[in-house]
Amino acid sequence: MGRGLTPPDVGSLAERLSRSVRAKLLAMVLAPLLLGVPMLLGLVWLWGNEGYHRLVNYKVGSDLVTAHEYFARMRQNVAVDLDALAGSQRLARAMAGGSPEALRAYLEEARQQAGLDFLFLLDAHGRIIATPHATGSHAERTHWPVVNAAVAGEASTAIDVFDAEHLAAIDRSLARRARLALVPTPAAAPDTRSEETRGLLIHSATPVKDDARRTTAVLEGGVLLNGNSEMVDRINAIIYRDGTLPLGSKGTATLFLGDARIATNVRLFAGDRALGTRASQAVRDHVLGEGKVWLDTAFVVNDYYVSGYEPVIDSFGNRVGMLYVGFLEAPFSDAMHGALLTLFAVFVTVSIAGAVLSLNWARSVFKPMERLSATIRQVGEGDHDARVGAVTSRDEIGQLAAAFDQLLDNLAARRMELQRWGDELDRKVAERTRELEAANATLDQARQHLAMTEKLAAIGELTAGVAHEINNPVAVIQGNLDVLQEILGPAAAPVKEEIRLIHEQTHRIWLIVTKLLQFARPGEFAGYAEGIDPAQVIADCLVLTRHNLERRQIEVRVDNAATCRVEVNTSELQQVLINLIVNAIQAMPEGGRLTLSSRDWIEDGQPVGADIQVCDTGQGIAAEDLSRIFDPFFTTKKGSGTGLGLSISYAIIERYGGSIGVTSHPGEGACFTVRLRSEARYSDAPSAPGFAARWIGPAKG
Ligand code: ADP
Repeated sequence: MGRGLTPPDVGSLAERLSRSVRAKLLAMVLAPLLLGVPMLLGLVWLWGNEGYHRLVNYKVGSDLVTAHEYFARMRQNVAVDLDALAGSQRLARAMAGGSPEALRAYLEEARQQAGLDFLFLLDAHGRIIATPHATGSHAERTHWPVVNAAVAGEASTAIDVFDAEHLAAIDRSLARRARLALVPTPAAAPDTRSEETRGLLIHSATPVKDDARRTTAVLEGGVLLNGNSEMVDRINAIIYRDGTLPLGSKGTATLFLGDARIATNVRLFAGDRALGTRASQAVRDHVLGEGKVWLDTAFVVNDYYVSGYEPVIDSFGNRVGMLYVGFLEAPFSDAMHGALLTLFAVFVTVSIAGAVLSLNWARSVFKPMERLSATIRQVGEGDHDARVGAVTSRDEIGQLAAAFDQLLDNLAARRMELQRWGDELDRKVAERTRELEAANATLDQARQHLAMTEKLAAIGELTAGVAHEINNPVAVIQGNLDVLQEILGPAAAPVKEEIRLIHEQTHRIWLIVTKLLQFARPGEFAGYAEGIDPAQVIADCLVLTRHNLERRQIEVRVDNAATCRVEVNTSELQQVLINLIVNAIQAMPEGGRLTLSSRDWIEDGQPVGADIQVCDTGQGIAAEDLSRIFDPFFTTKKGSGTGLGLSISYAIIERYGGSIGVTSHPGEGACFTVRLRSEARYSDAPSAPGFAARWIGPAKG
């Protein structure tokens, strides 16, 4: 929301410039082009225009000088013609002839020959003595400076303005020729007159001298310049000869009386000469008003011309008219602008090409940087496999990219090494934990064993005492029962069954007591140990239990694979095995299969003893009982069991450094394994802390 409040363009541009190398590089590349090129083009435009104006003004200035020279030569020609006339023999003869008619006729002929518009013969004082025109004699002409000079003996030629009466006085046709309707011209100075009646003339006077070089008369003549198209055409033809003005421009020349065109080749729209049109006020003020030369572009009649104007001064020193030359500007300015535009186009094209090239070049700089930046971002986001990759540029940025990739590779290697260490550490921790667990289990077993041996020791002490206490009364009962039977003799027949029951029960008491004593002090009952063959012991046990086995219809399998003998007391091992066989028989009341087997006990690849297995297919042992069956007095045979068989067996086997283990699966039978060494490792069971493991677990398979 807040974004909308900031000026978006400026903000985003400044932000992009500050954040993006690409934007900075682009700005660096484009700034000179975008700022420099327009500035350069502006300067070229200004300088081009100024140079162009200076050039065309210079040309029109030189054209004006040529026109000026030609105009001077025209005046000179009039002077020369008049001079030739003044020095001619014919004039001398006509003057000397005394015939005014002949003199006038001669003057008329001479006037026509010299191309003059008027011709007077004056006396040495400047009064008319002869003329082909209507002007009366004796008219005073010395108010004209040229005449004055001639009277003084000096030929003189100037430009003079004759007013309408004066012209008419000389010749009416002259006044008519001079008359010019003024055409209203835009931008010209206001003028109330509707026509120009004055005439602008080349006015010349030259003395006629006698042989003694004295001035005897003066010849005064002139050429009317009003409507003198021939003159301006000549000027134009000289200055602007074919081929001097390029590009279809056209040259013009004009003679002004005041500001009005009296002789010109400037054409109106209709193609007529623009006689009677007037110069602009600006030109008039500059040239006629201030007497300066105008060299500049000016609007002439209907178009812009590169123009040169200079004032025309009469014999009195007054600015009476203007001489003009000029040429149409449009083709020049068009050519100039065309050239400038071509130049601009070239500039712009070169700039664009330069910009494109520079951008391409710049891209080779910022592309790797952008890839570098993207890679850093990817790595930051957790992609550790991101790399800048191969970069074409071999400059510092290229080297930076390569170094960065190298850095990432090194980091990856370190990370992998750390990972490996971590895994190793985990593995070691797991191993140690397992070892610790094993040690704990062992400790647990040791603790259990210790508890049991302590318990056994206590029970042993107790039972030994109790057994002795019971043994004596039982012996007394047994002895007295025998005495009773002997005394009664046949009289005992009616209670024969009761006596038998008492015998049986006292025997049972004796058996229990004996077992208790064996349990409490096993060493006392043990005979010597010898190396015996497990197969032999198994065979002996089967002989002793055959009756029971057959009664229960139990199938017996024997599998003797052991090659090692075991070091143990024969009757003790028999007791243990018979106990196991009896338990198995009791577990299979409905019959089943008893498997007796032996195999070598291999430790560290070496046979160290034998395993003797007693397996049945009886009801098996409940999981919760499995850990308790070796406990003294633990029995599931209520009434008939003592719960001492397994604990005594356990104590016996452990004493030889062996062990008893069990695996069972309820409903599928149990398997007891007695493990004995070939060389017994005696321990002081049951009170000794050292023990042989008994292993307990569910039956495998
Ligand atoms: P008793 O046989 O007098 O009960 P034992 O110490 O020999 O004492 O056996 C303890 C208990 O172990 C038995 O009560 C019985 O529950 C269980 N047991 C021993 N051997 C087997 C066997 N082969 N099958 C099932 N249970 C057995």
